[in-house]
Order: sequence, then C-alpha cells, then structure tokens
Amino acid sequence: MSSTDQSPSGRCVVVGAGLAGLAAADVMVSEGWQTTLIDPVGRAGGVIETIREDGWLIERSADSFLTSKPEAVELVERLGLGADVLPLRPTSRRALVLGRGELYPVPAGFRLMAPGQLASILRSPLLSPLAKLRVCLERFVPASTADDESLESFAIRRLGREAYERLVQPLVSGIWTADPTKLSMAAALPDFLSMEKQAGSLRTGELKRLKSVDRNEGTAGARYGQFVTLASGLDTFPRRWCEHLQQRGLSCLQARVDRVDHVDTYRVQLAPTPTERSADTGFAQPGASLLEADTLIVSTPATPAAALLQQVCPALSAELGSIAYAGSAIVSLGFPREAVRHPLNAAGLVIPRQEGRSILAISFSSSKFPGRAPEGHVLMRVFLGGALDPQAATLNDETLSERAIGEVADLLGVTGTPSLIRVARWEGAMPQYHLGHRERVARIRQLVEGIPGCGVAGAALNGVGIPQVIASGRESARQAITSSSCRLLPRALPSPSSSS
Ligand SMILES: Cc1cc2nc3c(=O)[nH]c(=O)nc-3n(C[C@H](O)[C@H](O)[C@H](O)COP(=O)(O)OP(=O)(O)OC[C@H]3O[C@@H](n4cnc5c(N)ncnc54)[C@H](O)[C@@H]3O)c2cc1C
Repeated sequence: MSSTDQSPSGRCVVVGAGLAGLAAADVMVSEGWQTTLIDPVGRAGGVIETIREDGWLIERSADSFLTSKPEAVELVERLGLGADVLPLRPTSRRALVLGRGELYPVPAGFRLMAPGQLASILRSPLLSPLAKLRVCLERFVPASTADDESLESFAIRRLGREAYERLVQPLVSGIWTADPTKLSMAAALPDFLSMEKQAGSLRTGELKRLKSVDRNEGTAGARYGQFVTLASGLDTFPRRWCEHLQQRGLSCLQARVDRVDHVDTYRVQLAPTPTERSADTGFAQPGASLLEADTLIVSTPATPAAALLQQVCPALSAELGSIAYAGSAIVSLGFPREAVRHPLNAAGLVIPRQEGRSILAISFSSSKFPGRAPEGHVLMRVFLGGALDPQAATLNDETLSERAIGEVADLLGVTGTPSLIRVARWEGAMPQYHLGHRERVARIRQLVEGIPGCGVAGAALNGVGIPQVIASGRESARQAITSSSCRLLPRALPSPSSSS
C-alpha cells in the first residue's frame, strides 16, 4: 500500500491492538470510518494472552475483570460470549494475608482500606490491640483539606501505621505494583479519597455505600463475586472482538509504528516486525512503509506513544513520556494436588513488604476458576517485582522460578517439583499513577483536543482495569471524531455500535 492508493477521506489509523485500541476501532468502524488497526505482535489483545496446553489454562497477565463497571461484561455478552462467563468460585471468595509468618484471612468487610465491619477487625489476629483501637477511631480523624495525597500518607493518617503496613499496603500493591509513597490517591483510588471528603471518614463512607448497594454486597464474598473470567480463557474476548470488527470492515496490519507526522493528514511510518502471525489472526503484513489517515488514535503504552507523537506535538509527547512504568513477573506453577498441604481455600494470598519475602502475592488460579488445571492438579500464579523490586522483572526464568518455588514451598507447604512452570515477564508494563497524575492527564486531554482528529487512549490514563481501559479507548475515538475536520456522510444503515 502506498500513500497514493488510499481512499480519499474518512480514514482512521489506530496504533496498538490492546483492549483500548479495539475499543477505539469499534467506535470508528461503527461510525463509518475506514479503519486500520496496527500492532507489531500481529494479534489483538495486547497484554491479554492465554496459554492452553495439556489441560492447563494459564493467563499470562490479567485473569479476571470486574462486573461492577459495565464496559467489559456488556461487551462480552454482546459478542456472544455470555455463556463463557465464569464467576469466582464461592469457596474462594476471600483473600489471605501473611502476618508474622502466618496466613490469616483479610478481615471480612475490609475493602482495600475501608473498614466495613469493625467486629471482624477486632477478632482478627493480624493486628495488635492498639492497632485495632486505632482503626476503630478512624471515623474521628479529621478530613484533610489537601486535593491529593500518597497512598502511604493517606492510609497511615486515617488507619494508623500498623493497619497500613499489615493490610492496606499488601492489598493495594497487588493491584498497582506501586511505590505507596508515590501512588496518587486522587488518580488511583479516588473513591476512597471522596469517602473522606464527603462522608468524613472511610468507615462512614463505606457504611453509606453499603446501604446504597445490594445488601448482600456487604459481605466480602459477594464483592469477590463481581470478579469474572471466561471459561475458555480471557484472550477469547479480544480475539472474538477483533474477528467481529474485521467482519465489519476493520483492516489489521502487523507492523510497528515508528513515527507519525501531521500536516493536513497523518502520515504513519511503519516498520515491519520479524515474526508473521497473520495467518490465524487476520493481521496482514503491510504492503508499504507509509499510511495516510485523517484521524489517528494512539493506544500504545505511554512510552512508545510519546516517541511516535514527537513530531505531531512535542508537548504532548513530553507529558506522555513522563508517565512512569514498573515491571513485574508472573511465575505460573502447577502441582499434583497432594503435593500442596494448604487447602488453597481462597482467591490467593498477599504479602506485606515488611514480611521480607521475595514475592508480592500468590493467586490460587485453580481455586478461583474451574478448568485451569488438569484433574488432580492445582495451578497457582506467583507475582514478583513491582515498583519496589524493579530488578525482579529482569531476572532470568530460572532464577524467577527458583524464587517462586521456594516461597510456595515455605508458605503453602508445597513439596516436590512442579508439574508445570511458565514465566511471564512484564517489563515496564504497569503504568504508575504518581502524585500529579490527574493533573498530567488533564494536560494531556487539553493538548489532544488541540490536535485535529487525534485521540490517545490506554491504561496509562484513567484506570488500569479492563473496563476502564475499554472506556478510555471509546472516549479517544469520540474525541478524534469531534475534532476531525473530515466529515463523513451519514451512514445508510444504523450500525450495531458497541460504543453506546
Ligand atoms: C501482569 C498484568 C496483570 C493484570 N491483571 C489484570 C486483571 O486481573 N484484571 C484487570 O482488569 N486488569 C488487569 N491488568 C490490567 C489490564 O490488563 C491492562 O491495563 C489492559 O489490558 C491494557 O490495555 P491497553 O490497550 O491499554 O494496553 P496493552 O494491552 O499494553 O496494548 C498496547 C498495544 O500497543 C502495541 N504497541 C506498542 N508499541 C507499538 C508501536 N510502536 N506501534 C504499534 N503498536 C504498538 C503493543 O504491542 C500492544 O499490543 C493487568 C495487567 C498486567 C500487565
């Protein structure tokens, strides 16, 4: 394909075929744009990838999504995958936490940092009597007038140091893999900040929230029930979504975008990528090294987005380039059931930093969802790295596996060698919402609004969870359409839009 043999108007290029890119492409296709989705990996899904082999089903990154935000679950239904949706097993709807070398359940009703049930905190052996008293007094701690605060500062101020170190830090680290002295409450955990501002305390805010939702949601089990996966593996979702969009006219190319220039149109510079995946995914090899488009949506992680937008808008590039990332690694381990002494009767286990372990958390995959391990076996995923242990994600597979095996032996009474070991390394894959992130995202939005036909999307902006990333992709496409000087004729037929 050359820059001269393209159709005259209404062309859109979406860079990056993760969930954000698919969501953007969906809106553009639905609105009648001739859309090309480009990704060097040659398949849709980005970090979402499932390995299926010999009866094991291993998620390399995300293993579930929340249904309390509608974007993902509605889409899965619309793609005809409703029957594939699996909720977390009722017997696993709780988490464990390591405390002074022992495993304890997270107190019932304790939602990340909001104490829903004081009685369960008082009964828990995790905290000292003084720390329990401090949590009970949380409702009398005055609200801060500051707009933002780090997670560490906020949680210690409200709940006391011990509850922060033993509960909040490990629970939040499992999601954000972040440095809690830098993680912005306003950007990463705004609901909890609002509880303090509006209700006066986390305790009062949580009680109000519980009153307004289904009574059953007050129990930890019901909240865990909002996590679902797909029986066939999570990557069925982007694969099916992409096929669906290809049937509606989406073109997919396997290439890396190195640079974009913008004068009247966008000129997108492509570099071919070595491995060919196109056969089973519908991603074709590019016929030329240049594509021209009227609208451009960049839905790569922020670091490559900054590089490829350098010529289009240096200020936007600088803002995107200043978003920090952390790395992590997941070692999936399979064992015969009888090799594991622990009953694995939870979703998993989180580990406070002060316990001095070399891992962050363990997810009990085959306890959470059926069909993850062959009969008579169990599967667990061990998380290492994060912002406070940056070296871990760079270690070789052997060292990572040794660490993971040593820790599960010690913590869960596992004996013998694993039947399965798979390492997924995620270097620089986790965006860090540091203090100032919210303001940076506002500046990014403003800069994007000033560039005709441009959109920027992805986990680096307004939430890392699957539903939030889908919302970000949709929003970027609407932004690109609104600011584009290219106007399409109204479509003859209404399209089955999933962007509504
Ligand atoms: C280890 C891990 C576990 C997670 N667990 C969960 C979970 O259980 N539940 C949950 O809700 N969320 C989870 N998340 C978060 C969620 O999966 C991600 O935030 C989301 O999938 C990111 O989607 P995205 O489209 O923004 O980015 P990505 O998935 O990173 O996609 C970006 C795409 O851009 C492409 N790209 C990069 N550079 C270029 C270039 N120059 N040219 C063209 N294309 C390029 C990449 O190849 C990639 O395909 C997890 C994330 C990770 C990393």
